[in-house]
Parts: sequence; C-alpha cells; structure tokens
Amino acid sequence: MSIAELPPQRFAIPITGHASLPGTGPAGQSCGTCAHLVRVSGNRRDHAKCGHRAGKNTRSATTDIRLSHPACRCWSAPA
Ligand code: SF4
Repeated sequence: MSIAELPPQRFAIPITGHASLPGTGPAGQSCGTCAHLVRVSGNRRDHAKCGHRAGKNTRSATTDIRLSHPACRCWSAPA
C-alpha cells in the first residue's frame, strides 16, 4: 500500500514526520515494524515518532507517524 492509497481523512493534519517517503520501503512492512519507531509520552497518550529524524521531531502532531503507515526506504528490521 502506498501513502496515496490511504484514506484522505488520515491526513487532515499534514504529516511530516517520516524519514523518507512512505511506501518506498520493503513491501509488507510499516512504521510499526521498524527499528526506528519511538514512542514519546504525551498528556493523554503516547505519540509515535520516527527516531531516524532525531533532532527534527517536535511536540506537534505534524511530526507524529502512524504504526500503519507503509515503510519508507529508511526502514530497518528490529534487532
Ligand atoms: S519506516 Fe522507520 S524510518 Fe521510515 S518513517 Fe517509519 S519509523 Fe521512520
């Protein structure tokens, strides 16, 4: 699944938190299976961020990623 195939309502907030273009990684993989996935504690819930973008993530939802997003070319298998 490419990012263009995801339902448009999921992108009401611009998503800028990926290390590279979603859908350019290994087929069948997602951010939820990537070694770079990090969870940041928030007020009401944890937020998923891409650790490959260290230093570029903010506390804004625009740098949140979804576990279901298709993997980008920076995807790595967990150790
Ligand atoms: S696949 Fe991995 S490296 Fe790419 S955006 Fe998702 S968490 Fe980051």
